[in-house]
Amino acid sequence: MTSFADLTTIGVGGAIARFVEPTTRVGLIEAVEDADSRGLPLCVIGGGSNLLAADAPFDGVVVRDARRGIAVPDEAAPVEGADRTVRVSAEAGVNWDDLVAFTVGLGLAGIEGLSGIPGTVGASVVQNIGAYGQEVASSVESVEVWDRLDKRVRTLAPADLAFGYRSSVLKASMYVAPAQPADRFFPTPRYVVLSVTLALRHSATGAVGYGQLAKALGVEVGDHMAIGAIREAVLRVRAAKGMLEDPTRYATAAMAGAKREENVRADLASLAALQQGAPGAAPAADPDRHSCGSFFMNPILPAERAAGLPADAPRFAAVLPDGTPGVKTSAAWLIDHAGFHKGFSTGDGAKAGLSSRHTLALTNRGGATAADVAALARVIQDGVEDAYGVRLVPEPVVIGMDLR
Ligand SMILES: Cc1cc2nc3c(=O)[nH]c(=O)nc-3n(C[C@H](O)[C@H](O)[C@H](O)COP(=O)(O)OP(=O)(O)OC[C@H]3O[C@@H](n4cnc5c(N)ncnc54)[C@H](O)[C@@H]3O)c2cc1C
Repeated sequence: MTSFADLTTIGVGGAIARFVEPTTRVGLIEAVEDADSRGLPLCVIGGGSNLLAADAPFDGVVVRDARRGIAVPDEAAPVEGADRTVRVSAEAGVNWDDLVAFTVGLGLAGIEGLSGIPGTVGASVVQNIGAYGQEVASSVESVEVWDRLDKRVRTLAPADLAFGYRSSVLKASMYVAPAQPADRFFPTPRYVVLSVTLALRHSATGAVGYGQLAKALGVEVGDHMAIGAIREAVLRVRAAKGMLEDPTRYATAAMAGAKREENVRADLASLAALQQGAPGAAPAADPDRHSCGSFFMNPILPAERAAGLPADAPRFAAVLPDGTPGVKTSAAWLIDHAGFHKGFSTGDGAKAGLSSRHTLALTNRGGATAADVAALARVIQDGVEDAYGVRLVPEPVVIGMDLR
């Protein structure tokens, strides 16, 4: 029987009563509609890289889109010298980094900074993935969804999607308040993503949007670089932080075929090079990589609350959920300054701990349960709240456990 431990990057979570993998658009809609009409709990899962599911069995249906199609309707259009927009559509089940590799290979700029983010195209728009100065929102032209409430296919434009920092109308349809699931649709949005159309630019170069990346490339933020070089630098920086997915997971029966084979091979070769093992040796799984990525969101606070933080806490202009101006601070800074440093765990032999390379990643060091990860999360939430009065909110979708 398939379990969430088999399907998620953090490798924890209970058995799943029914797991289906539709291979057609109609099959996907039917699987969702079937679960909804029978009132069963439904989880549409992608790469399982932003999910923490409880150890208890999931008494519902988990649906994983097995379609992997990418189409470039404008590809045959003539290039007339200057940059131009090229639309690329991908089915929800396409592995996100397969899409980035494909578009960079075509010389299209817009998502190269999002290289190496685990997961699927469908989920990329749910939480508006972002990294190194780019967010998918800036490239989205439209999202085709199955609306579980109105029971019809709809095409949502960026104005409908209300993208924000790790948020969108899709994600908002699952929650009534931060980390508080809405009974009706959770743990999957009201809108199940069927496909995403991006508007990219035919351009040899892209802008470097982030300090760390600029440093890796030896340029200034805002400089233009070849998009292939930006992708390579992003992958290097992510690998150094343990923030790439563990490619050895695609050797398992549950994950086989979910990512293009040539890309899995390239990821395995990079991991082997990083580990500097014997020539030709298969890379070992990297314990820092069994995570959900950043576990907590960067808090956005009203100005008066942010004023109470220590003077050296990072502060960035941001927008509060109600649309008024706020201040974004750094969850990693708060965690570190509350005394939880890289590699922290609650004791000798603890199976869950902070990544040794990234303060924000809670990792399964081998053999952890969901309860171990949740206990670690609560210790950190409580410690940060005691020190700074800020309750950190988990970024992953937490199923069957309360991490408010
Ligand atoms: C090592 C690591 C590094 C990461 N780095 C980053 C980063 O830099 N930036 C960033 O933004 N995120 C990052 N993440 C988080 C994660 O990669 C993203 O959130 C990703 O978009 C999740 O995709 P997924 O397919 O794995 O989603 P899943 O974990 O499978 O699902 C997440 C949510 O999306 C929903 N969902 C999935 N597919 C669909 C669909 N077709 N329609 C509607 N809802 C759907 C699920 O129901 C669930 O609610 C990282 C994760 C890991 C493990």
